[in-house]
Amino acid sequence: MQSENSPISPGRSWYEDSCGERATYPTLDGDRTVDVAIVGGGFCGLSTALHLAANGTQVALIEAHRFGDGASGRNGGQMGSGQRGDLLDLEKQMGFERSKALWDMAEDAKSSLLGIADQFGFDADYQPGQLSPLHRKRFEADTREEVEILNGRYNYDAVEYVEAEDMAQRLGSNAYFGGTADRGTGHIHPMKYLIGLARAAEKSGAHLLENTAATGIEKNGQFQLSTTHGTITADRVVLALNGYHEDFTPELASHVMPIQSFIGATVPLDKDTGVLPGGEAVDDSRFVVRYFRKSKDNRLLFGGREAYGKSRPGDIEKAIRRQITEIYPQLATTEITHAWGGNVAITMPRLPYVRELQPGLWTAGGFSGHGVMMSNFTGRMIAEHFVGKSDRIELLKELKISGFPGGTLFRHPLKILALTWYAMLDRI
Ligand SMILES: Cc1cc2nc3c(=O)[nH]c(=O)nc-3n(C[C@H](O)[C@H](O)[C@H](O)COP(=O)(O)OP(=O)(O)OC[C@H]3O[C@@H](n4cnc5c(N)ncnc54)[C@H](O)[C@@H]3O)c2cc1C
Repeated sequence: MQSENSPISPGRSWYEDSCGERATYPTLDGDRTVDVAIVGGGFCGLSTALHLAANGTQVALIEAHRFGDGASGRNGGQMGSGQRGDLLDLEKQMGFERSKALWDMAEDAKSSLLGIADQFGFDADYQPGQLSPLHRKRFEADTREEVEILNGRYNYDAVEYVEAEDMAQRLGSNAYFGGTADRGTGHIHPMKYLIGLARAAEKSGAHLLENTAATGIEKNGQFQLSTTHGTITADRVVLALNGYHEDFTPELASHVMPIQSFIGATVPLDKDTGVLPGGEAVDDSRFVVRYFRKSKDNRLLFGGREAYGKSRPGDIEKAIRRQITEIYPQLATTEITHAWGGNVAITMPRLPYVRELQPGLWTAGGFSGHGVMMSNFTGRMIAEHFVGKSDRIELLKELKISGFPGGTLFRHPLKILALTWYAMLDRI
């Protein structure tokens, strides 16, 4: 097993060893004044920086470590469709029109993600298709209904219901019942995307700074952001910290809960294993979701376990191997070369938490496992709002996101209790 490559996330990711050159950026040196300061160099922060700089705004982005050391360089790479929150529940809570607007936003997020890569000429190993198999037969009726609704009033005909036998062939496994196949989405190499995004932001004129951590924020007319290497003065600040906020503000602490998620990468699979012959990504119906796909060089990248404390790469490998073997017994002894993890950030309703905490101070996070496209697009929408191009971000700003019960005090014990409960429900 390889050594670590991120000071804040466990294990060395296979992405790190397959992304080509990962450019480094300077640290802040002294004091600087800009229009907008951004804290956090993942997809959300970098996308905000790109779209502000491209519209002529002076912007500085600081990242405490290296870009991609958080979730954005280490995730499952699956784009998905719609929001993470259940579609039927969303409709019940907020009515069809707002639920459809959120769906359409996610569709725009998909095309924006791929469009930026095209526009700036970088390749992120995009592969099409996503399967969502059911681990319980009893989910079948609801899933069929959801497909009908998507094909009908959501006007989305790229998704279809797939019967159990067909699903087994597409997966190369009998471990599931039927489920859905979505031709309208796909998966990427997240670190390659992040590297391309950072280059695009820099080329557009954003000041990108690594190894520079924000340590505090004050407002005296303008915002003064103190950092480990100087001060940034700005009219506006965006906190794009997602699952790494470490309680930077009380609002984040009570509304956005970090949860660790883990991935293992195998050696390239032999052609005759039968695993995912169509190259789709998979996310299953468990609450503690299992998500997997093949890389372009035929490795299985398998994510699954969400732990509730700290984990070592050896522990991650063991847990991931057990889960792989449940679905693909033929891979029981296949070598796992990399095992790593990172922080996903969830909110109570599994929808993004976007707020203007005080005039000019924004935060965006809690993408709840759907951040590959939504964190990127949220950054874009915030930037477009700042430059007066569009007000689409209002839809996310207005979402009702209640805090976790008990606030920060009970958050950790409650998290353990809740997740253990759901993991148990997945099993019975
Ligand atoms: C293992 C794993 C698998 C996942 N799989 C998927 C998937 O398949 N599909 C999907 O859609 N989503 C997935 N996600 C979620 C997705 O990766 C995130 O939603 C998304 O990357 C969030 O981007 P972000 O920019 O908001 O946050 P991040 O990429 O986490 O960036 C936040 C950054 O803030 C920095 N930071 C924190 N504090 C400070 C400070 N004081 N000063 C300066 N910088 C600071 C951190 O160092 C970090 O780099 C997964 C996440 C993980 C961890």
